[in-house]
Amino acid sequence: MKILVTGGAGFIGSHTCVELMNAGHEVVVIDNLCNSSEKSMERVKEITGKDLAFYKGDILDRDCLNTIFTEHKIDAVIHFAGLKAVGESVYKPWEYYNNNITGTLTLTDVMRAHDVKNLIFSSSATVYGDPAEIPITENCPKGKCTNPYGWTKSMLEQILTDLHTADNSWNVILLRYFNPIGAHPTGLMGEDPNGIPNNLMPYITQVAIGKLPELGIFGNDYDTPDGTCIRDYIHVCDLATGHVAALKKIEEKAGLCIYNLGTGVGYSVLDVVNNFMEATGVNVAYSMKPRREGDVPQCYSSAQKAKEELGWEAKYGIKEMCRDSWNWQTKNPNGYKD
Ligand code: NAD
Ligand code: UDP
Repeated sequence: MKILVTGGAGFIGSHTCVELMNAGHEVVVIDNLCNSSEKSMERVKEITGKDLAFYKGDILDRDCLNTIFTEHKIDAVIHFAGLKAVGESVYKPWEYYNNNITGTLTLTDVMRAHDVKNLIFSSSATVYGDPAEIPITENCPKGKCTNPYGWTKSMLEQILTDLHTADNSWNVILLRYFNPIGAHPTGLMGEDPNGIPNNLMPYITQVAIGKLPELGIFGNDYDTPDGTCIRDYIHVCDLATGHVAALKKIEEKAGLCIYNLGTGVGYSVLDVVNNFMEATGVNVAYSMKPRREGDVPQCYSSAQKAKEELGWEAKYGIKEMCRDSWNWQTKNPNGYKD
């Protein structure tokens, strides 16, 4: 199939391009590079030995989207493009709602004008809020989000569901990601955050390499075995193959489907730090800090539905996630900026 990947130069998008191309799909990318580098596209080509079409453009730009759908016979869209910094979304809500929601409305409007109605959407476990059940199944009710970023995901799920209800020739797959970490095992692609990272794993690797003095662990008084929060970390290459599996489902006429993409295993913050030190032999200095606002104590998936219906399951474990994150960090100390 020929797939338009929005946000394909980003962390998850670039890894997904590799898996799509390895699976024999053709890839067209649109990315405005607001949080990524075109270098990731070169790395995709280097890893796969194949070419892809890249458009530096914005999903809010209807003309650019029209050009792409006119120049390429697109079969399906995998939609990663979006702003994703939780903290930033609190003080820039308009920018988040405009980029993520207006962007998706523009994209889907142009899609239907070109009669392309197959869409895989990057959602997040954040839509569960403080989850009503653990492990979280897809039947768990959506919860109250704690920031505008989360609300964009929750609202977009509703918008895309309503689109399918009104016109069931749409195939829409909502993928709720848990915590993607790791990097491509070649060390050629990985996560390249701007400034001081907000997320745990890039913070750990930057402490390990000496860019940051120590990791602050946000809270050790939660009701969990070691007091720190539990999350479901998933290797970004596993997440990427999850999209290839979802595309197969689209080919079988999916209708509207929702899947968790996680491993089904929860690790505490301390577990991650200890696994990182064991996997790499590198020390990570840390100290306990107060809780971070908006964090839920536990969030891990039931990965059963994706296994049964998509035939997909994560194959990498936490040690490999740590190893590959570290490999990327050491080979590219400044990310794609060198
Ligand atoms: P990322 O920032 O690396 O990738 C997003 C890409 O979208 C970037 O390359 C950015 O330049 C591009 N982009 C943003 N707005 C755009 C626009 N208006 N037009 C064109 N391109 C635009 O983030 P990621 O971690 O790869 O996340 C991909 C998607 O998955 C996002 O939608 C994100 O919200 C979602 N998600 C991520 C996580 C995570 O922890 N990384 C978890 C759950 C969901
Ligand atoms: N965390 C931490 N220190 C950091 C960054 C994150 O203790 O510098 C914790 C955070 O409180 C959460 C877990 O690590 O319990 C995962 O956080 P992250 O921001 O990576 O993902 P989230 O689950 O919040 O989306």
